[in-house]
Amino acid sequence: MYANKDGIFKIVNSKYMRAYFNKYKWNYFFGLAIIGIIDVLQLRIPLLIGKVIDNIGESNLVESDLSEYVKQVLFLGLIIVVGRFGWRMFIFRSSRSIEYDVRNDLFKHLEFLSQRYYNQNKTGDIMAHLTNDLDALRMAVGPGVLMTFDAAVLGFLTIYNMSTQINPRLTFFAVLPLSLIIIVTAILAKIMFRRYKTKQEAFAGLSDFTQENFSGINVIKAFVQESKEIKAFKNVNYNAFNKNMKMLIINSLLHPIMALITGLSLTVVLGYGGYLAVINIITIGQLSAFVQFIVMLIWPMIAIGYTINLFSMGAASLTRIEEILNEDIDIKDSESVKDIKKTGGSIEIKNLHFTYPQSGSPDLNDINLSIVDGKTLGILGRTGSGKSTLVNLLLRLYDPPGNSIFIDGTDILDIPLHTLRKSIGYVPQDSFLFSTTISKNIDFGLRNSSKKDIVNSAKYACVHDNIMGFSQQYDTVIGERGVSLSGGQKQRISIARGLIKDPPILILDDSLSAVDTETENKILSHLNIIRKNKTNILISHRISTLQNSDQIIVLDKGSIVEKGSHEELILMDGLYNHIYKKQLLEKAIDDTEVSEVEL
Ligand code: ATP
Ligand code: MG
Repeated sequence: MYANKDGIFKIVNSKYMRAYFNKYKWNYFFGLAIIGIIDVLQLRIPLLIGKVIDNIGESNLVESDLSEYVKQVLFLGLIIVVGRFGWRMFIFRSSRSIEYDVRNDLFKHLEFLSQRYYNQNKTGDIMAHLTNDLDALRMAVGPGVLMTFDAAVLGFLTIYNMSTQINPRLTFFAVLPLSLIIIVTAILAKIMFRRYKTKQEAFAGLSDFTQENFSGINVIKAFVQESKEIKAFKNVNYNAFNKNMKMLIINSLLHPIMALITGLSLTVVLGYGGYLAVINIITIGQLSAFVQFIVMLIWPMIAIGYTINLFSMGAASLTRIEEILNEDIDIKDSESVKDIKKTGGSIEIKNLHFTYPQSGSPDLNDINLSIVDGKTLGILGRTGSGKSTLVNLLLRLYDPPGNSIFIDGTDILDIPLHTLRKSIGYVPQDSFLFSTTISKNIDFGLRNSSKKDIVNSAKYACVHDNIMGFSQQYDTVIGERGVSLSGGQKQRISIARGLIKDPPILILDDSLSAVDTETENKILSHLNIIRKNKTNILISHRISTLQNSDQIIVLDKGSIVEKGSHEELILMDGLYNHIYKKQLLEKAIDDTEVSEVEL
């Protein structure tokens, strides 16, 4: 992947990047201009020193001249220091700004990509794009650009000065071995970057291992796996150590090889240059200046070899970044979208068939259903029967086929996505909460609710008393992945988050599964009051959650197999009645156990 030879051209020709180069063109312009000026000034120092040496040699240097030269060198040195600071500020500011902008672009695009994308791509990989790829791109458009320009100007000017001010033949023979540095650096840097990548991967593996290990520490202890884990850790750790060593070898090789090549070049200068000085073709001062020029040339040579790799890595990363940015936002407002700001709660589903992108067989078959505005629908079905899928389609987390789902008589594909999702309060099955305070979690969909509303919705969700028991109450920060809360507490905070929106349509996807029947009854009675005359969809495995719904559907393998009220469904003597009887029996057994214990 790094062998992308047209690295710099790929970056410069990218339409996407060009917009940014354009945006920061003045920063680049000033940065590069300062480099040019400083490089020219820098080259004056060896010549000045050479002159001083010659004048001393010819004994025609008075003290006042010497102090004049010293002043000049000091002054040049000072300008160079300021210039170096300036060009770094201009160019690194551009590259950091580009990194900042591209990261924002990426996040914005990723935020709009649908569930389908996240099912197909691992979170870790996406995170890597936001960090490693952006780093590589920044290195290419910052240090890469700076070093290339600096190397080109400094290299050219140095060689020009060496051959015009001193001796072209000497220059040729001295630079020839020195140019080996370009080749050696290019090869070593390529190996170094490759090893650096594997080293990074090894470290990622190490942190993945430890993180999972610590998160699952209870399981490890319960299954007495500590010693096995320690052994496994040793392997992962050894792998990281090994990769570090491989990196160390290359790093350690780099300096001696550079010294060898420089030494080779200086030997030529000493031999051939010394000879030229002896036969008076060049002066001693020129010889001394020449040596300084050679030392000055080492850096541009290294820089050229190094930046070739920076650009090819940057180009490879840019390709991956552009792939994400070109990823189609498949769920968006259609061209025929209507200007709807608010919806009511009447839902009509007609001949809905749906199959997930990766699924082999249909996940929903011929669903026909209508929910009158203000009524409650119960959905019962075994696990995997398609309950959450139906909700995913209603929310357009996946797009349903056209003309299959209507709200207030409008195909949901023609309702602005924003309006549609604002109109639905959704309590997802996994009750995901963010690592922030409880009140911010509850107010997540609105972000400006009054404390009173937050407390009220927590009360309706029967979680207020729990929250008041926490040390910081509503300001309690929920730990990473909400670990400090019980499953039932998380579920009820998630219900409060859905309720506070007071939406025309509320969906509770199996949201009462982790609460006891008494709390369930309380929450349902609250819903009866606050959600009166509003549309509600309750999904559950438990009949007790659904039995008071106006209409209940039973899903089985993606199809509606029964439909009606609780009483009607019991009379049908089908799947619903079967589940009902089973649950009654389970409850009776539970109750007997309780009473036996009580006795
Ligand atoms: P549960 O009661 O366990 O929540 P459910 O009735 O909600 O089950 P769904 O989540 O709707 O079931 O799943 C219905 C079917 O669709 C299952 O066979 C499941 O494997 C499949 N499925 C669910 N999500 C996806 C997805 N993102 N991609 C592919 N198939 C999926
Ligand atoms: Mg589900």
